[in-house]
Amino acid sequence: MQTGKSRKQRVTNSRHAGHNGAQAKKATTELDVRIGVFRQPAMQTPVLVLNASYEPINICGARRALVLVLKGVARAEEQQGAVLHAQRMNVGMPSVIRLLEYRRIPHQTRALSRKNILLRDRNMCQYCSVILTASELTLDHVIPRSRGGLSTWENLVACCHDCNRRKGNQMLHELTEMKLQREPRPFSLHTSRHIMRMIGSADPSWRRYLYFESGDAAA
Ligand SMILES: [Zn+2]
Repeated sequence: MQTGKSRKQRVTNSRHAGHNGAQAKKATTELDVRIGVFRQPAMQTPVLVLNASYEPINICGARRALVLVLKGVARAEEQQGAVLHAQRMNVGMPSVIRLLEYRRIPHQTRALSRKNILLRDRNMCQYCSVILTASELTLDHVIPRSRGGLSTWENLVACCHDCNRRKGNQMLHELTEMKLQREPRPFSLHTSRHIMRMIGSADPSWRRYLYFESGDAAA
């Protein structure tokens, strides 16, 4: 986690590299003020991040989004109602930003971890569909480890303790009463977009960036 100070410095340096000392100092003060007003609860509001191609790629906090806009890395495509009154300028709070330079997104963007498996499976037991908190869920190896199953995206699912006990060391085809709700897959951009859609359904300004692919509905 970056401290506020080092992040500010980084912003300042990248923005004002090459300027002379006096100009840089003045600009630092100005940017400090501009970023300073961003320390309020509204700064936590989620902002949708689009690639240069308008493809939704991420969600970040409003504060981070504003920094990206001020650094000239992104521009605000949609704004929230709130306007921040900073020194000598009013800054609209973005609700959607777009990167100015296209960023190649690797097919699989997330590390394999318990947290990400639970996120992919939306905290839902993949056998009985019960939705629980993270601490009430366990991870199940679909093909048990004792039978050669690996810890991979395709072989790990969120599972409640009851189902985990019931399944034990058996293979799924040996258990007629248990089956997977859906085939486990790597956490892809497609998955992330589905989650963005769930979070974004409350924000009308997000919708036109999230619902443009009709093919997505099938998943
Ligand atoms: Zn279950």
